Amino acid sequence: MGLKEYKSKRKFEKTPEPKPELRPEGDALIFVIHKHAARNLHYDLRLELDGVLKSWAVPKGPSLDPSLKRLAMMVEDHPFDYKDFEGVIPEGNYGAGSVIIWDRGFYHHPSAKGKEENEKFLREGLKKGDLKFVLKGEKLQGEFALVRMRRDEKSWLLMKKKDQYANESSILKENRSVLSGKTLEEVAEAGQGKSPKKKLDRIRQREALESEDLKDAPVKPAPHNIKPMLATLVKEPFDDPEWIFELKWDGYRAIAEMRERDVSLYSRNHISLNRKYPPVAEALQKLSLEAVLDGEIVVVDEQGHPNFQMLQDYQKTKRGHLVYYVFDLLYFKGHDLTGLPLLRRKEILRKILPSHASRIKFSDHVLKDGVLFFRVVSEKGLEGIIAKHAQSLYQTGKRSRQWLKVKTRLTQKGVIAGFTEPGGGRKYFGSLVLGVFEANELVYIGHSGGGFGAKALRTIYEKLYPLIRKECPFKTEPETNAPVTWVKPEIVCELTFAGWTGDGIMRQPVFSRLREDKTAHEVVREKPSSHHSLP
Ligand code: MN
Repeated sequence: MGLKEYKSKRKFEKTPEPKPELRPEGDALIFVIHKHAARNLHYDLRLELDGVLKSWAVPKGPSLDPSLKRLAMMVEDHPFDYKDFEGVIPEGNYGAGSVIIWDRGFYHHPSAKGKEENEKFLREGLKKGDLKFVLKGEKLQGEFALVRMRRDEKSWLLMKKKDQYANESSILKENRSVLSGKTLEEVAEAGQGKSPKKKLDRIRQREALESEDLKDAPVKPAPHNIKPMLATLVKEPFDDPEWIFELKWDGYRAIAEMRERDVSLYSRNHISLNRKYPPVAEALQKLSLEAVLDGEIVVVDEQGHPNFQMLQDYQKTKRGHLVYYVFDLLYFKGHDLTGLPLLRRKEILRKILPSHASRIKFSDHVLKDGVLFFRVVSEKGLEGIIAKHAQSLYQTGKRSRQWLKVKTRLTQKGVIAGFTEPGGGRKYFGSLVLGVFEANELVYIGHSGGGFGAKALRTIYEKLYPLIRKECPFKTEPETNAPVTWVKPEIVCELTFAGWTGDGIMRQPVFSRLREDKTAHEVVREKPSSHHSLP
């Protein structure tokens, strides 16, 4: 074929691809497989012969599974130096898009002895349309064959022969360059130009659709009114190679049912959030997916930290940046994914979410190192982490021990039993005196003078004022360092604190919010369990 066609398709002053030159004499024949995000994602298999690279575009990529035959379209010969090409072919050029060296190494005919026989057998195979060869690459090993189909000159089938290297694993999951260690996306990002991002998003979605994971998920009608899977509170973080660790988002848990442009976003209790957070609902509509997502709606402040107060006030103030962090995928394009292991669900999820959207983000995780991750999260003043077993199935509506939450600070609901006089320049009250119910009796758990904004001081005071009464609601009156005005124990608030003292009092309690959704008698001491105890 020579390099004429290669040359005629390209302008070498405009593309970084190599100029059409023949290879200098050498010994072993090389092969290279490029992963190429052009109009469509494909893999280019290139085998060196007679100084050039014989080339085939393989849309679905090579496989080590002998039962799979992959279509391989023969394309023009490429110059020998193309073997080293990795980078971005600029828009407007032939094959525009990014390219990585997915695999490379040497190859030979399976029965040839010596260099001359090798090239002779390969040349004959190519001519006959039945080319047998053995690859010694970094990813691909063993014997393969390329067989020309009858229908035309260019369509071939690439297949793996049965040998010790044959297996059913999906080798394409190893998606990094053997040259740079980069993924196709990373190479595209490093290259200049604006359009590749959307193109890559489309390519990743296609990869997800074709993935073996999705094929393992049964075809079912889309589920409705999902109750999300819940995590069990534990005391301490841990390291475990079988677990992954995500940030615990301080926001509203939200399920998104998406039928293309028709999006229903709702809370744990099936309250619609479409109108509460229109920017999220609109961003989901634009994605136009057929999917059910699980995640958390969060408002992040200027420092990038999730801020629950700003989320609650968002409808009024529109302050902060509203984001939907998505951490699970329950349904996609007709497939029910709840029976797939978590890591496989997240792998598909990562591919179908846009990589650069500002409202909808993939909630990433770290593998194995929960203790270090927890420490970093604590230092940043964030709420905590969620540990998830990497193989966990999605158990709708269950509070599972396959998902565990570890909080940097503990939270506790408390019943307001009274308040002390304000000091300094403060108005309304100094601190709140708090209790929980134990066997129908209110028990003192401490008092908190921190965490109130000016507005909260007033709101709380207005709620407490009509409840003022003489009698102390505790059976035994607690010792406090200031006189207390007692109230009827009705109002519930939530606090964060550093731990319990030996006699059951909260250390460093800080008020976080009123809990008008809770009644006083529901409020008990919340005890985290230990990670390794049985359910
Ligand atoms: Mn290509």
